[in-house]
Amino acid sequence: PARTRFAPSPTGYLHLGSLRTALFNYLLAKRTGGQFLLRIEDTDEYKELKRLCPQVGGNYGPYRQSERSHIHKEHAEQLLETKHGYRCFCSIERLRSLAEQRRALGLTSEYDRTCASLDPTESAARAAAGEPYVVRLKVPDVYPMFTDAVHGRIKPGRATVRHGEPAFEDPILLKQDGLPTYHLANVVDDHLMNITHVIRGAEWLPSTPKHVFMYQAFGWEPPVFCHVGLLMDMEGHKLSKRTGDVHISEYRDKGYLSEALLNFVALLGWNNRLKSDVLPLEALVENFSVKDLTKGNTKVNFGKLDYLQKAFIAAYSVPEDGDTSKSSNFAASIVEAVQNAVAVRFPQVPEELQHPEYIAAILESDMKNYITPVKFVESHDYFFLPNPDWDSIEANVYREKMTGEDVIKGKDALATIVDTMKKRPSDMLEWNDDYITRILGDNWQDEDSKKMVQRNLRYALAGGKGGPGIHKIMMILGEEEVIRRLENVRW
Ligand code: GLU
Repeated sequence: PARTRFAPSPTGYLHLGSLRTALFNYLLAKRTGGQFLLRIEDTDEYKELKRLCPQVGGNYGPYRQSERSHIHKEHAEQLLETKHGYRCFCSIERLRSLAEQRRALGLTSEYDRTCASLDPTESAARAAAGEPYVVRLKVPDVYPMFTDAVHGRIKPGRATVRHGEPAFEDPILLKQDGLPTYHLANVVDDHLMNITHVIRGAEWLPSTPKHVFMYQAFGWEPPVFCHVGLLMDMEGHKLSKRTGDVHISEYRDKGYLSEALLNFVALLGWNNRLKSDVLPLEALVENFSVKDLTKGNTKVNFGKLDYLQKAFIAAYSVPEDGDTSKSSNFAASIVEAVQNAVAVRFPQVPEELQHPEYIAAILESDMKNYITPVKFVESHDYFFLPNPDWDSIEANVYREKMTGEDVIKGKDALATIVDTMKKRPSDMLEWNDDYITRILGDNWQDEDSKKMVQRNLRYALAGGKGGPGIHKIMMILGEEEVIRRLENVRW
């Protein structure tokens, strides 16, 4: 069984990439009957965020790094004893001018290892006398080889020579305030928490040789590392807030189902070769395997999220187990969400166009095109505009597609429909599908004319936008509103 962990820093926000990392770790743990830990890497302390961190139980706590600093300190001392680490007393000023000098020579700005050669007794005495210091890791000339479960063998790398010049990247493990840096805390905690597999973003791959070396220095077995490719936008740039890598709560606020979002991120960099892409959490757990993770970067296509969302919505609307109480709760929650979206998008909308029954009828007529409340209201805006002026409705590509002949015939056709409707004594026939069929069918028989009428009706009633069929649109809008729209249409 694998023990995995998700180790977010509370300074970052939980975005798609981190959700995916968390999910992969979770899936591996569940798949193997193991455990999944949440460890908060808050050594850069953020008090307010700390309060938000959940309290989790377990035998390997505390799970907040800031509560483990005594453990980290002890381990830094252990590395001092074994000479894998050393105290560095260099002042910030010295380090700064050193970096400047090296940069001026066109070199990278690493530390020059002055303090590595301090006599241990002197070093201990200076520390005991209260002189401030940091603990650095003394990296080897050549980093050990290791095998990444995704990237394969990572060859032994030279650590300390770049551009033919020594460049000691001895990282700081313990800061002057006695708190650990990421490298120390991460390695120590992963070991003490018995972590067997570390799945994380490829941005950590360059740090991993250091980590593997630290495991060796402590005499520990390193976990299996699995570095997954980064998330890219469709142009191949790193995913950014602008291109959708927003806080995941934004997806929930928009109305995406958590099943759809989890399914979506699980597919980013996981090449599972299953027949269907639609995978609820149990199916993800059942099929997850580290060997199917891909090492290349992954382009994130948000169309896929919408596709999965539709699939889960459809599954909820028609529950497999026949338990319709679940689906009616679900339907009610969607009606409410659409109601809210209407109120935000059209603050002036008359009350009857916000009525749950009216909204439920619209949803029912076109559920297959439902993705989120906001998208639905946008694509069905014509239902919420009492006096629509189609010129002001964007994306009316339909109108441009209508030929001149269409328009001429269309004007006549709509006038005929209005006439027929007005001639009817309103108490004679119900406003229903049959009646609508008659209005249309009695006047036009051949297919071409029928299509022409449909196109013109769609333009006059819905600004040419897609959605349910014309009959349904007419039904929902109601007789009065249909006449009004047909009479007021501007060509
Ligand atoms: N705290 C690191 C982060 O925020 C953890 C990296 C790791 O998984 O080792 O990404």
